[in-house]
Amino acid sequence: MARYGAQFGPDITFLGVPQCDHAEPETYVDSDVVIIGAPFDGGTSARPGARFGPKALREACYLGMDGQRPSLAMRVDGLTDLNVRDAGDVEMFSGDAQTSCAALQAVVETVAQSGAVPLILGGDHTVTWPDVTGVARAVGWGRVSVIHFDAHADTGKIEFGSLIGHGQPMRLLIDSGAARGDRFLQVGLRGYWPPPDVLAWMAEQGMRSFEMTEIGVRGLDDVLTEAMSIAMDDCDGVFLSVDIDVADPGHAPGTGTPEPGGLSSRALLDAVRRICYEVPIVGMDVVEVSPPYDHSDITAMLGNRVVLEALTAMARAKADAATGSRWDPGLPLLANRPGATGD
Ligand code: MN
Ligand code: MN
Repeated sequence: MARYGAQFGPDITFLGVPQCDHAEPETYVDSDVVIIGAPFDGGTSARPGARFGPKALREACYLGMDGQRPSLAMRVDGLTDLNVRDAGDVEMFSGDAQTSCAALQAVVETVAQSGAVPLILGGDHTVTWPDVTGVARAVGWGRVSVIHFDAHADTGKIEFGSLIGHGQPMRLLIDSGAARGDRFLQVGLRGYWPPPDVLAWMAEQGMRSFEMTEIGVRGLDDVLTEAMSIAMDDCDGVFLSVDIDVADPGHAPGTGTPEPGGLSSRALLDAVRRICYEVPIVGMDVVEVSPPYDHSDITAMLGNRVVLEALTAMARAKADAATGSRWDPGLPLLANRPGATGD
C-alpha cells in the first residue's frame, strides 16, 4: 500500500533532512514535522505532470543538500531548529484515485496521530481530500480550519465525469464533515470558474473566499488578518493548503491550470510565513507543481521555498515561545533574532 523512498526519481529527502519510515512511527518519534510525498496527478483536468512534483520540490535548490537552511529573515533554521524528517512517497497510482487516496489518508492519519505535523508534497490538488481527512481523523473531526491558497475554488461536484479529482477536494471535505464550510478560508481566487450553482453551494456552506480583486483593493495583509481570525474561532488547529497556481503564471508557469493575475512569489512567501508564525499549523500541503511544464525550475523553486518558509516560521514560533521574544518583520536583519530585546 505504501513504501519507503521515492516513487519517481532518485531517493532523496527534502533538502537532505533525515529519512524516516511512515509505517514505523518509532522512526519519527519526537518529530515536529514529517514530510510525505504524494506523486499523484490522476485528478488533473488539463495539463498533467504533478506526479513529478514531490521529486522537484525536494531537490529544487542551488545550495547543498545538507539538511540545513538558516533563514536570513527569521534568524532560525527550519530544518534543524525543528525536528524534520522525510518519509518518502506514498505509493500512488494515477489511474486509481480511490486506492491512492486511501493509502495517502492512512499515512497522513498515522503521522498526525504521532503528534507531528504532516507536510505533504503533491501531486495535484486531489490529495488535499485525503490530507485534511487524515489530519481531521487524528486531531478532531470538523475541528480543523482550512486556509486554502488557490486560483480556483476546487468545490466542484462532478468534473470530467468523476467525483474525485483536483476540482472537488474542498466540496468532499465539507460534505463529509471533516472540515467546516464556515471555517474554510480561500485566498487568491480569480478567473472564470466555478459557475453560479457552485458559488451558491459555497455560500450555503458559509465559506469565505477572497478573490484577487478584493485582495488588490484591501491588501493581502488585511485579508490574511481577517482569514486567520475566522480560522482561529473555535478550532483545534489549521491546515494550510497551497496550490502553486495561486501565484501568477509568470511566477509559477509549471502547473496544470495556470490563471493570469495571481500573487507574486514574494507575496505568497510572506503570506505563508506569517500564517505559519501566527496560527497553530496541524497539517500542510503544497500541490500542483508540474515539472514538465516548468521553465528554468521557476515553479519548483517557489514550491521548495513555500515549504521552507513554513518550516522557518514554525521554528521561529517555537523559539519565540521559549524566549518570549517576537519576530518583527520591520526590524533590521542583525537585530531580529530569537531572544533579542530591541538591541
Ligand atoms: Mn487547486
Ligand atoms: Mn488551482
